[in-house]
Amino acid sequence: MAREIRRGFPDDTLHLIGVLKGSIFFLADLARELGGEVSFDFLGVSSYGKGTDSTGEVKLTKDLDVGIEGRTVLIVEDILDTGLTLKYLLKLFEERKPRHLRVAVLLDKVERRIADVKADYTGFPIPNEFVVGYGLDFDERYRNLPDVCVLQLGSRGKTKNE
Ligand code: 5GP
Repeated sequence: MAREIRRGFPDDTLHLIGVLKGSIFFLADLARELGGEVSFDFLGVSSYGKGTDSTGEVKLTKDLDVGIEGRTVLIVEDILDTGLTLKYLLKLFEERKPRHLRVAVLLDKVERRIADVKADYTGFPIPNEFVVGYGLDFDERYRNLPDVCVLQLGSRGKTKNE
């Protein structure tokens, strides 16, 4: 993915915008493969509460530190699910007039899409399962698992080994 992204913008400083917190491992690994000039910024959104289902509501919890006007911006997202978060972000960022605006996602749950949005770069399409690890959480847990794993909930919403 990094090679494909860099091929499209060989001479630009790629301004990576990580969507906190799930994208941090993906962003760190992607950034190290991009080569050339790269800068980072992060923003926070909340669309999920404590459970595994979207509330459908997107709220900005932390805005960017610097402006993106004239920059080549790459939004780095962990998962594209309903697409509501990305739709919100694209609208927000387009208003700020970047030179280019692209989207890289690690995982794409294609069948869950509600909003009409697509990533420019996709790591892996995945089925409709709730996944954790490699930055992704369930109620802030499991982000540090080195791999992406399917979360299996037992009865009463507990994870299997609880
Ligand atoms: P969307 O707005 O596309 O429905 O959701 C995007 C966000 O929902 C992702 O950035 C992620 O934070 C969260 N999300 C969606 N599916 C999953 C999942 O399977 N596991 C985890 N941990 N988060 C998910």
